[in-house]
Amino acid sequence: MKKVLVVESSSFFGTVIKNRIQNGPNFDVIWARNLSETLKELNNPDNNFFAAVLDLDLPDAQQGEVLDKVIVKDIPAIVFTGNVSEQIREFVWSKKVVDYILKEDPNSVDYLIATLKRLEKNPDIKILVVDDSPLFRKTISDLLQNHNYTVLAAGNGKEALEVINEHPDIKMVITDFNMPEMDGFALTQKIRERYSSDELIIIGISSERDTYMPARFLKYGANDFIVKQSFLTEEFYCRVTQHLDSLERLQAVKEASMKDFLTGLYNRRYFFDFGQKLFASAKRDNLTLACAMIDIDFFKKVNDTYGHKAGDLVLQHVASTLKSRMRGTDIIARLGGEEFCILAVNLKENDAKKVFEELRQAIEKSSIQIDEDQTINVTISTGVVTELTDNLEDMVNRADALLYEAKNSGRNKVIVNKLNFLS
Ligand code: GH3
Ligand code: MG
Ligand code: MG
Repeated sequence: MKKVLVVESSSFFGTVIKNRIQNGPNFDVIWARNLSETLKELNNPDNNFFAAVLDLDLPDAQQGEVLDKVIVKDIPAIVFTGNVSEQIREFVWSKKVVDYILKEDPNSVDYLIATLKRLEKNPDIKILVVDDSPLFRKTISDLLQNHNYTVLAAGNGKEALEVINEHPDIKMVITDFNMPEMDGFALTQKIRERYSSDELIIIGISSERDTYMPARFLKYGANDFIVKQSFLTEEFYCRVTQHLDSLERLQAVKEASMKDFLTGLYNRRYFFDFGQKLFASAKRDNLTLACAMIDIDFFKKVNDTYGHKAGDLVLQHVASTLKSRMRGTDIIARLGGEEFCILAVNLKENDAKKVFEELRQAIEKSSIQIDEDQTINVTISTGVVTELTDNLEDMVNRADALLYEAKNSGRNKVIVNKLNFLS
């Protein structure tokens, strides 16, 4: 478990912080009440601290001496203090701190917890820094690394595009304007051809001398801009964090709108939206595409005999079996009720027969725990089409007709491409 060092002389705040950190993000907390206890913990080789929360006013060190002791150990430091003076603020931000939180603020503890959670999550977030000045590139990269982000760097727009190609999951690009080969405007335009502003954040860095530059950056599609000459670390961190927070919220909403709540599979709308695209590209590139309609046999009986909740567990079980047996590139959707549909690229008739027959057997054999001392078994019927017809709806209808055939001829079976369709 990750360890957090809390240096806090007040018993009240120490107890509150310790409890909140242990209950929320679930880190281990080591609490030191003064500088000498802190040094002891820092020198203990068993302690590998993930972050430190620091009160600057300690009985044996009232001038913030504890800050340097933690920073030299490369431990991300969050200052949590009651002192609001400009002097302290400047002192703190002149050091390499993660954040500066005022104790008296009613939301201070919530904010502290959110900051710790971010530090834990940030290694998964890739940020690309683009500037032809190695010094400024390093300044920005160091600040971001201090917040645990994964930082990539490029010296001009062209290099930046190459890095984005290699890392399509980059969440933020921070770019200078004036660079050789390709400038910040051209880079912003190029990125926006592929990523919208709610998929990838762009922050332009502009110079004070050019009054129109911020507006132009925004018009080319940047989300925000920073003026180089009046750069403030605290403001920089706020902007980066807020943009990433809103990006995450948007993506969570998007994700929820594509998925079925009960099973986590894609919903009908996503299936047809994305399926349409997959269908078109399969047609264009002459790829095989298999479409399977799957329906649980006598599912109504499960609900009637064991209750709706047991029915839900059966749906979840079937969904996770589908997910674990198909490939990551296949689209697996719950079209409604107990009816599922799968689109699988590059699955030819013989392989499809094998894959869906194995799936049928896997469901038949697995027992589903519906409560502490009861398991049940279900079966599925499947209709599969591996021939590309005119459009996706038609393919789904044909798979559905084969499914109907499977139901009528005894259930718990797979029928692939068998019926003769009149076209
Ligand atoms: P068949 O073998 O012919 O497919 O029979 P069946 O009983 O499986 O099919 P039928 O279409 O008659 O019944 C489907 C049932 O699925 C009826 C409906 O109440 C139930 N159902 C639909 N959505 C849900 C759900 O989200 N949870 C649960 N527990 N039941 C659901
Ligand atoms: Mg059914
Ligand atoms: Mg049904």
